[in-house]
This record gives sequence, structure tokens and C-alpha cells, in this order.
Amino acid sequence: MQIPRPTPTCTRFQPTIEMACSKCGGQMRLVLIQPQDRSFELLTYQCGLCDSGESFLIAV
Ligand SMILES: [Zn+2]
Repeated sequence: MQIPRPTPTCTRFQPTIEMACSKCGGQMRLVLIQPQDRSFELLTYQCGLCDSGESFLIAV
């Protein structure tokens, strides 16, 4: 049985373990993954330099 999946709207965002901080350009690390529902996860990154956090909603 196949479950129809909606076309992801954020296909350009590839979840990675590390990414650049938008504020200081430092290295951010993936610290938290929170499933929102069947098709989305909230990824939270934290910067090791300025300690700011960023969250992204991605289609899984
Ligand atoms: Zn930063």
C-alpha cells in the first residue's frame, strides 16, 4: 500500500549536521530534531560561536 506524498516545498534545503550561521558565519550544529507530523520535522541548529539558534521546517 502506497501513501501519497505531497510535493515538498523545501526541496532545496538539504538537512546536514553542520551549516553556517547566518549571523556570525560560524559553524552551527544540529542539536534537535522534533517531528511535527507525518511529513514534517523541525530541525534546530545552534551556533557554537554566538550561541544563536535557528530552526527549519523540512519535509521528510
Ligand atoms: Zn553565530
